[in-house]
Amino acid sequence: MTASDTDLICAIATPPGEGGVGVIRLSGRGAKTLAQTFVRYELQSRQAQYSRFVADGEVLDDGIVIWFASPNSYTGEDVVELQGHGGPIVQQNLLQALCARGARLARPGEFSERAFLNGKLDLVQAEAVADLIAAKSKLAAKAARSSLQGIFSAQVAGLAARLLNLRVEIEAAIDFPDEDIEILQQAQVRQKLAGLSEDVHTLLRQAEQGRRLSQGLTVALLGEPNVGKSSLLNALAGEEAAIVTAIPGTTRDLLKVDVVIDGMPLRLVDTAGLRESDDAVEQIGIERARQQIYSADRVAVVLAATDLADANDSTLANCIARARAQLGAAADSLSADALHIVINKIDLHEPTLPSVEQSETRLSLVSATEQRGLQEFVAALVNHQSADAEAANFTARARHVQALTRVGSLLQQAQQALGDQAGPELVAEDCQLAHQTLGEIVGTISPDDLLGEIFSSFCIGK
Ligand code: GDP
Repeated sequence: MTASDTDLICAIATPPGEGGVGVIRLSGRGAKTLAQTFVRYELQSRQAQYSRFVADGEVLDDGIVIWFASPNSYTGEDVVELQGHGGPIVQQNLLQALCARGARLARPGEFSERAFLNGKLDLVQAEAVADLIAAKSKLAAKAARSSLQGIFSAQVAGLAARLLNLRVEIEAAIDFPDEDIEILQQAQVRQKLAGLSEDVHTLLRQAEQGRRLSQGLTVALLGEPNVGKSSLLNALAGEEAAIVTAIPGTTRDLLKVDVVIDGMPLRLVDTAGLRESDDAVEQIGIERARQQIYSADRVAVVLAATDLADANDSTLANCIARARAQLGAAADSLSADALHIVINKIDLHEPTLPSVEQSETRLSLVSATEQRGLQEFVAALVNHQSADAEAANFTARARHVQALTRVGSLLQQAQQALGDQAGPELVAEDCQLAHQTLGEIVGTISPDDLLGEIFSSFCIGK
C-alpha cells in the first residue's frame, strides 16, 4: 500500500441535492483526530453522538457523529460519519472545512477500494456493493446481496482450493520425474480434473445468469420489415418507444429500451429490418442489426403469421429455416439457447405449431397489437437455459464470466494434454494459469490497472 492509500479522504455519501439527512464520510489515518476538532464531545467508537459541527468558531451544522475505530469500519480504517442536514451548501461547507484541515476529496469508489485493500471485502464483494446500489429489480438486489455476503466468492474459493490441491499432485510428479507418467496416468488426477472442469462450467452458467440479473438480458429483435418488431417492443415496453408505421424500413437505427419484467431487467433492442436496401442510411442500420446478433444474449427473430398462411409454410422446420436464413452466417455463432423464434400477428392467422414446451426450439406465438402471448414470450426468453443450468442466486459481471470461461478452457486443455500423454509440465502450466485466473476473480491476484478500472465506475462516497 502506498501513502495515498491511507491518507485522509472525505466525500458526501448521500445522493446530491436536498434531503432530510446528508452524510459525510471521512476515512483514513487521523480521521478521528480531525473530526474531534469539529465536535463538542469526546468521540466514542461506534456510538451515535449528537453535536454541533463547529469550525473556526462558526457553527456549520449540527447532527449525529459516529466514529468507527479501525479496523471495525467499512474501509478497515478509522472512519467518521457526520450526519447533518442534506443541503448542498451545508455539505459543501463541511467538506471545505475538512479539506482545509488535511483531508482530500475521495475518488469514485475509493472507500470500497480501501475496504478491498484492507481485506474487508474481496473484489467480487466490492463489485456487489456497486451492483446492489445500481440494482434495478428486487431480484437483482437480492442476488447482489448474496454476492456481497460472499456466496459467489466462496464458490470460487472452493474451486481454487481444489485446483491448488491438484496442482500439488501434478507438481510432485514433475519433482519426481521417474514417476511422472505413472502419477499423471492415475485415474485420480484424471477424475479430479474432469470433476473440477464440470463444476467450473456449472458456476460459469450461474455467473452468466447472475450477470444478466445485474446487467440485464439483452434481447435483439430481428426480422424482415413489417413483421411487427417495433410493435412488439412497444407492447413489451408499455409505451410508444418505437415508431410504428405500415411502411417497410421505418426503423432506421437501433432503439434500446430497458424494462423490468417479472423482476428480470431486459434491454430490448429493435433493429432495422434485415433486408437488402439501396438506401445508404438504412444499410448502416442493417449492418448494426447484424452486429447485435453477435453481442445480444438472446436473438428473437420475428416472423409474421400472415406469411405462414400456407400449410407448407406453417411447419416448425420451415420457421427455423426462415429464421436462420435471415441471420445468415451469424446463425452459426449463436448458442442453442440464444435463438428464439417469435410468430407475431396471430390475431390475423394462428398457425398450428408446437408451443415452446413441446419443442427444442424456443418458439412463441404472440400478437403485439392484441397483447397476446407476451408474458409467455418473456418467460421463455428468461427461463430457457440449457437443461442443467441453475437459477442465479448471486450477481456477477462480464469480467467474472470471461474469467470463468478462460478457466474452463484451460482445464479442458489440461485434460487434453493429460490424454495426449504430454509431459506433466504442460498440464501443470494450464492448471497454474487456471488457478491464477480464479484468483483474479476475487482479487487475490489483481493487476493495478484492473483495480483502477473496477473502482472508477463506482459512485463518489462509496
Ligand atoms: P416492423 O417493421 O417489423 O418494426 O413492424 P411494425 O411494428 O412497424 O409493424 C408493421 C405493421 O404491422 C403495422 O401496421 C402494425 O400495426 C402491424 N402489426 C404489428 N403487430 C401486429 C399484430 O400483432 N397484429 C396485427 N394485426 N398487426 C400488427
